[in-house]
Amino acid sequence: MSRVYNFSAGPAVLPEEVLKEAAEEMLDYRGTGMSVMEMSHRSKAYDTIIKEAEADLRELMQIPDTYKVLFLQGGASQQFAMIPMNLMKHKTADYIITGQWAKKAYQEACLYGKANQIASSEDKTFSYIPDCSDLPVSEDADYVYICENNTIYGTKFKELPNTKGKTLVADVSSCFLSEPVDVTRYGLLYGGVQKNIGPAGVVIVIIREDLISEDVLPGTPTMLKYKTHADADSLYNTPPAYGIYICGKVFKWLKKMGGLSVMKERNEKKAKILYDYLDESRLFRGTVEKKDRSLMNVPFVTGSDELDAKFVKEAKEAGFENLKGHRSVGGMRASIYNAMPVEGVEALVAFMRKFEEENR
Ligand SMILES: *Cc1c(COP(=O)(O)O)cnc(C)c1O
Repeated sequence: MSRVYNFSAGPAVLPEEVLKEAAEEMLDYRGTGMSVMEMSHRSKAYDTIIKEAEADLRELMQIPDTYKVLFLQGGASQQFAMIPMNLMKHKTADYIITGQWAKKAYQEACLYGKANQIASSEDKTFSYIPDCSDLPVSEDADYVYICENNTIYGTKFKELPNTKGKTLVADVSSCFLSEPVDVTRYGLLYGGVQKNIGPAGVVIVIIREDLISEDVLPGTPTMLKYKTHADADSLYNTPPAYGIYICGKVFKWLKKMGGLSVMKERNEKKAKILYDYLDESRLFRGTVEKKDRSLMNVPFVTGSDELDAKFVKEAKEAGFENLKGHRSVGGMRASIYNAMPVEGVEALVAFMRKFEEENR
């Protein structure tokens, strides 16, 4: 068996320990004689799995009791619709457009009410985060929406926007559990877990209880109401049971690692290794404004499409997978999520140095 260094943006690398444990439990989960995949989601064993997962996530993020934690399906993209369907009581919401995911969320919200773009960084291919200290927040906005870490472009909000008292809604798919957050600053935060937590198929929504109600857009399907899932503790219907089980293991791994402050330090250390090299390199350079750099997704280019392609090819041959940038921006992107070890980043930088010497 040999494992590569996997820099995929998602689905992405998972902690090896977690994968091994899941493998050991594959045929017989703790004396049940069956795999978690084969288990009733109403069984005692599964009830423990989902409850522990929620409890561990609450502990990691210090989620107050006034917030519900929901394990849902449909990916992050389904939230683009669920959010306006459930929260747009006055049919107005403000969106800050910092990339494709925020834009898609905005376009979806336009189907349900009046969505306003109150800031955007599209003028410079989303290579920065706009100043959000004094935006024209709409008086009747039901919420202000951001995509906190822009997976494709590699930018991150280092400060949350001033929403002028309005509810903040954030897509945290690609920065979920990468550092401590103050949950109380959000009305709702959510993310697809396939970036930084677990396997594709689970989306976690953390929502303040007062935002959950039956007062939703007329015609909202039962399955798309937060209330349905909140009332049933995420067991209204069959949840993505196996995926939640793996997420639970990742939460335990994070606790063992020392929690989110330790992860933040570790992530800063990893990102610094790569960014420092990009800043000194005469071949490679980062593509976003330094102050807005993401700790999780690091896009870079050589300036030549041919050299970029050569780099991606040779890196792959050397065991560094999925370094090709998103199809919409080109170049390269290294996603260095929680589960990417420091050695992976060090090895990548060593390889980049060698490539630079050979291709000057
Ligand atoms: C990947 C991603 C999405 C889309 O996730 P799906 O689960 O594929 O719908 C949305 N937002 C962000 C920030 C992402 O990184």
